[in-house]
Amino acid sequence: MAKIAFFGLGNMGASMAKNLVKAQFNVTVFDLVGSQVQLLAEAGAIPSSSVKQAVESAEIIISMLPAGKHVESLYFDEDGIVNNISAKSLFIDCSTIESNTAKSIGARLQAHGHRFIDAPVSGGVAGAAAGTLTFIAGGEKVDFDEAQSCLQAMGKNIFHAGGIGAGQVAKICNNMLLAILMAGTSEALQLGIDNGLDPKVMSDILLQSSGRNWTLELYNPCPGVMANVPSSNDYQGGFLVDLMNKDLGLAMGTAANNQSVVPLGQLAKSLFQMHGNAGNGKLDFSSIFNAYKHG
Ligand code: NAD
Repeated sequence: MAKIAFFGLGNMGASMAKNLVKAQFNVTVFDLVGSQVQLLAEAGAIPSSSVKQAVESAEIIISMLPAGKHVESLYFDEDGIVNNISAKSLFIDCSTIESNTAKSIGARLQAHGHRFIDAPVSGGVAGAAAGTLTFIAGGEKVDFDEAQSCLQAMGKNIFHAGGIGAGQVAKICNNMLLAILMAGTSEALQLGIDNGLDPKVMSDILLQSSGRNWTLELYNPCPGVMANVPSSNDYQGGFLVDLMNKDLGLAMGTAANNQSVVPLGQLAKSLFQMHGNAGNGKLDFSSIFNAYKHG
């Protein structure tokens, strides 16, 4: 099996790397936070204390970092991967970043003889832990095919969206729609509540009517309607408002590149930005429901 070097052992990456270890891959790990490296060592990964050490004999590089600038720095800084790796490798970046940044990273890696796919994910921390993530990849088909076995160890549904950068475009289209659906569902539920309806009854009706959508099926934003979702746990865990704002910012940037018309996306961005600015950035994004409440 190919030797993997995995970078970024945060909320998502730690579980993803663990699943690669479980699938018997030879995985070397590195994170700026030493305790995260230690955690993975206890799970069977090979710990490393520098980028240089991590990439020794690596054939596949996987990164799961906060944003594009972190990926560029890890790959191209003086003490980064490209300056320290000997093999011509396949780089798989699973972070959510700007699609234009993914394209420029791909071109720079290709100039050094490496291959690159962008492979952002959907499914959150629960999907990462369960190994059921959806991967939305962009890149050459041959590179996508080469990545399949490791992506399958971390996810359930694996899509090839198109060339380099296409994975990022598809991912932020999905999250823009999710933000709109979550705000719209919250708005409709609160309208019903304001007019005397029980939110559970309302949700049952909507689920069997034309307003049915993913947020009602699996992630109801109104506390007490559904068990085991963030809204019934004070909006703790799940997908943070801050991260949704990051993705909506990426969506608006992508829209601006091609003069795409995204009025509902812009409105959702403003709603989630106001909500985040009001001190809710670390709550799950379904807490947008609270923005519709009144005394
Ligand atoms: P996180 O902040 O928990 O983890 C990021 C990790 O990267 C941290 O441990 C950090 O120390 C490490 N890191 C940063 N720079 C590094 C470097 N140069 N070398 C090595 N390690 C470095 O973030 P997360 O929640 O795991 O999210 C990662 C990515 O996945 C983001 O792009 C996010 O948008 C995306 N994403 C997150 C979720 C989610 O629910 N958390 C869902 C889908 C996609």
